Amino acid sequence: MLLRRIDAIRILMEYIRDEIVVCNIGFPSRELYHIKDRPENFYMLGSMGLCSSIGLGLALSLNKKVIAIEGDGSLLMNLGALSTIGYTQPNNFMLYIIDNSAYGSTGNQKTHTVNTSLCGIARACGIDAVEVSQEENLRRIIEEALNDNKTKVIVVKVEPYNEKVENVPLHPMYIKFRFMESIKRHRKS
Ligand SMILES: [Mg+2]
Repeated sequence: MLLRRIDAIRILMEYIRDEIVVCNIGFPSRELYHIKDRPENFYMLGSMGLCSSIGLGLALSLNKKVIAIEGDGSLLMNLGALSTIGYTQPNNFMLYIIDNSAYGSTGNQKTHTVNTSLCGIARACGIDAVEVSQEENLRRIIEEALNDNKTKVIVVKVEPYNEKVENVPLHPMYIKFRFMESIKRHRKS
């Protein structure tokens, strides 16, 4: 049986200590907030498609591991991001793509990852990428990637499902300033 997105987020967060986490708009951010709210979480409330790009920008400008929790529908809107990630390859970036082959937050309409391999595209961009669906393998891959000093793409295949969790109740400006405060000590000089 496939995992659900909330399982994939919960498993990832078990391994996160003080790393920076950027999370895709909609249910992914709601589920992350429900599992573990922390200042180092940046919940996107707009800009669908730009999670990978925001994560990459942060990784390039900070001395700290950055994890972007991306979705398949979102990444398909901005596939060029993978090419830029492959070209820049910061040593502190993990792109954690939760692929349910659906636009989950708008009602689970099918996306083209039904036939398109995001892992294959990432590899073609020169990135070390892996696709995984089993929990045991996922845990091993996360642990390795967090300890490695290189760009890594992890595509987690999950079933379409939205956990019934509340909206992120934080004001957008609060999310922004709390996040900025939490990352400023990691700025590259
Ligand atoms: Mg999706």
